Amino acid sequence: MKYRLLAPGPTPVPDRVLLKMSHTLIHHRTPVFEAAFAEARKGLQWLMQTEYDVITLAASGTGTFEAAMQNFFSPGEQIITIGGGKFGERWGQMGRQLGLDVIEIDVDWGMAVTVEAVQSALDEYPNVKGVICVGSETSTGVRHPYEDLAKLVKDREDTIFLLDGITAVGVWDISPERDGIDVLVTGSQKALMLPPGLGFMAVSPKAWARNAKGTCPHYYFDLAKERKALQKGLGQTAYTPGVSLIIGLTEAIKMMQEEGLEAMFARHDRMARATRAGVDALGLKRLAEVPAASVTSVWAPEAIAKNAVVTGMRDRANITIAGGQDDLKGRIFRLAHLGYFDELDICTTLSALEIILRQEGYTDFEPGASIAAAQPILAEGFVAKGGDA
Ligand SMILES: *Cc1c(COP(=O)(O)O)cnc(C)c1O
Repeated sequence: MKYRLLAPGPTPVPDRVLLKMSHTLIHHRTPVFEAAFAEARKGLQWLMQTEYDVITLAASGTGTFEAAMQNFFSPGEQIITIGGGKFGERWGQMGRQLGLDVIEIDVDWGMAVTVEAVQSALDEYPNVKGVICVGSETSTGVRHPYEDLAKLVKDREDTIFLLDGITAVGVWDISPERDGIDVLVTGSQKALMLPPGLGFMAVSPKAWARNAKGTCPHYYFDLAKERKALQKGLGQTAYTPGVSLIIGLTEAIKMMQEEGLEAMFARHDRMARATRAGVDALGLKRLAEVPAASVTSVWAPEAIAKNAVVTGMRDRANITIAGGQDDLKGRIFRLAHLGYFDELDICTTLSALEIILRQEGYTDFEPGASIAAAQPILAEGFVAKGGDA
């Protein structure tokens, strides 16, 4: 069978992007690279719906987040992080490791944080300098109410709101200025349709003001230095950039612009609704209290062996999907629908899922039930677009 990458990251990379990146390697201190980087930066501002500076780093999403923590906070300063999943917990661990005073709000995996919980933490700790939230908690498929949390921080002069938008940017409508996000982080290998290796960060003036007085040690991740390089207007980064990925990014952005933001968000929403309808029709239970449009997390039926869906998909269908992490390992599986995914990828996912479930002995559904439930939703995307290969 064909190999199919249907994970929530890395996600599939379109041929157009792969071909673009296969061009012979160019040097970065050249007019050709500078023009490409200028185009990529403009495209990122379009995608992230911001006029803020967007910094590009040669790092994964985690590295990019570390850059944010090191540059906007000083050791001993208090920040609020939100548990509730692998990534929310990671930002708490990272803050502690960097010597910050982390107040972590405990959230059960699969639940969304409440505004009240964050409000009461802010009341209890008036010196908090930052609130960090994951928009789309990829480990559980939950969408946290970040817009409401950002409002709690907006009028505090020296407190900033950071959003992990790593599987949210490009999936639904986010704008730092409109939504009150001071630092919006995303990465290349999720909705941006690129291989791993680039991180992006939109930074508000309020966050830059914090950066100016920060004392957390850092060298490579020096955002002031990166900003200076940007402001020189020479299309350069402080250190050697991810040249091939940035070239690929220009093509990925071109594809997104051809589709348009609104259509792109609608496609993600459609795929998410269809996936949920499909797994519901199989009698399966979903994990996320408030589901994100990027990934659907599903409890594996009790009756089948641990992790059997993920390994069955891998070994018998040549499909990579994601399983659970930490306590959820082997107990859930996660169906992705972000980035270079379309309506028919959802049919593939659901069909393969039905076959694997049946082979594993879970038969409480009519064959084709998930597809039957998903099709009317997917059909909304079947309109003339004049596409080609
Ligand atoms: C993938 C992901 C990360 C981690 O990014 P890496 O590129 O693996 O370092 C962080 N947060 C969320 C929500 C993610 O989906």
